[in-house]
Amino acid sequence: MSEERSLNFLEEIIEEDLKNGKYKSIVTRFPPEPNGYLHIGHASSICLNFGLTQKYPGYTNLRFDDTNPVTEETEYVESIKEDVKWLGFEWKHERFASDYFDTLYEYALKLIDKGLAYVDDSTAEEMAVMKGSPTEPGKDSIYRDRTIAENRDLFVRMKNGEYPDGSRTLRAKIDMAHINMLMRDPILYRIKHAHHHRTGDKWCIYPMYDFAHGQSDSIEEITHSICTLEFVPHRELYDWLIEKLEIYPSRQYEFARRNINYTVTSKRKLLQLVNENHVTGWDDPRMPTISGLRRRGYTPDSIREFCDRIGVAKRENMVDVGLLEFCVREHLNRIALRRMVVFDPLKVVITNYTGEEEILHSENNPEDEKGGTREIPFSAELYIEKEDFMENPPKKYFRLAPGQMVRLKSAYIIKCDEVIKDAAGTIAEVRCTYIPESKSGSDTSGINVKGTLHWVSVKHAINAEVRLYDRLFKVEDPTDEEGDFKEYLNPGSLEILSTAYAEPVLKNATLEERYQFIRKGYFVLDKESAPGKLVFNKTVGLKDAWAKEVKKS
Ligand code: ATP
Ligand code: MG
Repeated sequence: MSEERSLNFLEEIIEEDLKNGKYKSIVTRFPPEPNGYLHIGHASSICLNFGLTQKYPGYTNLRFDDTNPVTEETEYVESIKEDVKWLGFEWKHERFASDYFDTLYEYALKLIDKGLAYVDDSTAEEMAVMKGSPTEPGKDSIYRDRTIAENRDLFVRMKNGEYPDGSRTLRAKIDMAHINMLMRDPILYRIKHAHHHRTGDKWCIYPMYDFAHGQSDSIEEITHSICTLEFVPHRELYDWLIEKLEIYPSRQYEFARRNINYTVTSKRKLLQLVNENHVTGWDDPRMPTISGLRRRGYTPDSIREFCDRIGVAKRENMVDVGLLEFCVREHLNRIALRRMVVFDPLKVVITNYTGEEEILHSENNPEDEKGGTREIPFSAELYIEKEDFMENPPKKYFRLAPGQMVRLKSAYIIKCDEVIKDAAGTIAEVRCTYIPESKSGSDTSGINVKGTLHWVSVKHAINAEVRLYDRLFKVEDPTDEEGDFKEYLNPGSLEILSTAYAEPVLKNATLEERYQFIRKGYFVLDKESAPGKLVFNKTVGLKDAWAKEVKKS
């Protein structure tokens, strides 16, 4: 789809590894924690991990990092699977870190037996004090020199549920003066009497992230374990554990987190928006979640294209949401069916149109030779957009005005003869005449007009609700502002037009089809539609209106 691009740093590493025979094929994984729905940042990681094994021999696993029993839910697991599939990727094995709890427990015992782990009775506060600082070494815990037998006994009893939450931990015995703070005897296991969504009440000790992630990688023989930059300092511990446990040598590589402006990409923050009803749910079309983007009308192709264009970087940066919109606009221009919908109707009566009605034809998509045509009924009473008529137009106004002519898209040229007002002086309808020889496709009128308007026939039009969306936040980076990020929500992010009129073929609109409402933008049917009640979401405008707004202000 996109132009040839040079190799990113991960592709360079992998090509080197394959060339020098280090690996015959590679294994990557996408490791979400099931504590929320996936967002556009995750899409980057998905496209990267799955993209590499599409390009090179090998496969990708989907692994749920479910080591933290309080936040994880089955609903999230299901949504994550749906989203990865929808993006167009297939995983080889579906795994859960909790599948490995028995193995991880054995690994912990192995470290104890090697004299490389100990049970510490210090409280969290005591440990924090003993940890030292980046400039000061930490202090050894008084429990650090327990015997192997004592550590084994205590750890087994921790597992058997003999101690309350927080009373003991299992720590690696590394070096309390290490310059990398994460290497100062990191906690491997903590006690948490909590129900787990998969293992139930079997466990009351749970491994810490650092003692589960790398080990899960090894168990699955992941060759290239790709994570985001905040894990750079963890790499040393990742390697230490693999070395001491003598397990498969997975390697960790880091790339920059991808964030886009005017939104937040953190599951925790998105959850707040959902819980506090700032949005209607995880799949609210304003949300940067995959499910929100899907409901908004984004296509998997456009999201993959976006991820490909932003590529992989080693430094964090904010990506302009305009690029995401550009990608979807480009794709929709190629695939969307053209339709006419009037948002704010003004009645036009064609006084010299004597026929009952007539069926006209219009292209479904001028970008697609095989797109075919659709039927559009034309009759003596039409709706056009209120904003397409002006009683006293300025110069160079090419839309409808008294005495002026316009073309109705795929139909005829009409001329405005008379404006009818009600008692209050508001325009009730405009009366026009049409030029019978000006029919689109067989126009012999010899008349040239500059404006072309969309329209619908009054008696054939169907009622529709149209939902227009704007940025969810008023500022580029709401988490970088003073106070709570939610203070920067854009109060005008949703506008509902409940009395739009759509051309009749839209009666059969489906959730899968994409539409361009001519002169209006790209739209998709919403799941809240019901027979007799069409609801459309605006995906994106035809042009980058936002950039222009910003320049103006
Ligand atoms: P969040 O802060 O939203 O919860 P997370 O990093 O905690 O994000 P995980 O479920 O742990 O979420 O992420 C799964 C994978 O997706 C990880 O490998 C993580 O590094 C990656 N990832 C998460 N957010 C981004 C992002 N904004 N850009 C790129 N990759 C990301
Ligand atoms: Mg996380």
